[in-house]
Amino acid sequence: MRDADQTISWSELLRETEAIIGDRAHARWICETATSSTPDEFRAMLDQPAGERAVGHLDAMVARYRTGEPIQYVLGSWGFRRLDLAVDRRVLIPRPETEQLAEMAIEKAATFGPTRTVADLGTGSGAIGLSIADELPIEGTTVWLTDASDDALAVAQANLAGLGRAAINVRIAHGSWFDALPDDVMFDVIVSNPPYVADGSVELEPIVADWEPTSALLSGSDGLDDIEVIVAGAPARLRPGGWLLLEHGHDQGDSVRALLEVAGFVDVETKRDLADLDRITAGRRP
Ligand code: GLN
Repeated sequence: MRDADQTISWSELLRETEAIIGDRAHARWICETATSSTPDEFRAMLDQPAGERAVGHLDAMVARYRTGEPIQYVLGSWGFRRLDLAVDRRVLIPRPETEQLAEMAIEKAATFGPTRTVADLGTGSGAIGLSIADELPIEGTTVWLTDASDDALAVAQANLAGLGRAAINVRIAHGSWFDALPDDVMFDVIVSNPPYVADGSVELEPIVADWEPTSALLSGSDGLDDIEVIVAGAPARLRPGGWLLLEHGHDQGDSVRALLEVAGFVDVETKRDLADLDRITAGRRP
């Protein structure tokens, strides 16, 4: 316990936080966030006395962490490729495998010119679509972000505001999959990390199931309900030669490839994630 009238240094608070939460990296990130400082800035202030506001913020974050809340939500922001994204319980936490999906979408979209039009369906925090807008040329790029959740779009909108100059290339639209998009816009690349976990799946970890939005995770008895809708609708919205890229479960590669082939896609291919599991399938409209 700390005395209210006693000053305490950040190095003492860091040690105390490590002891309470039992994870050194997480303790450090929480202290950095409490002081709104970068890792270097925080190192430079270890000997300094902590201010009241920062300690209040620290205590609130530690209390949340101790309830089991994921570190990303406790911090309120998380890195995704070049972006630092606001994240909270309204959106899925951006994951490393989705960074690979964004990279593939960027590579595909970069082959189109002088203009390229991309849709990120079910954008959540905006991670995929905002990275695409951020990493493609400002000139000629348009990226549509959609979501059926108004809550999610509020987070995507906040992250768009932090994007800088590329924000002029981004459009946000509310609605379910293709329903969100204007009828007269055609796309060179359609990308999505849709819900793909089977209802009642035992593979969903409790920290995911208990904290992340169910609507971003579950998709029917085999987890394929939303992927089926997206694959069925994509050919009519892709320009000839345009690409569809989907994230999916490690055991859904065969099913997703079959769905794309039945829908007429060519060059259908599944990529593995960092854990060497099937994770992303892409196909091209002939
Ligand atoms: N990869 C997530 C998980 O299993 C699921 C993400 C999703 O359904 N889009 O934790």
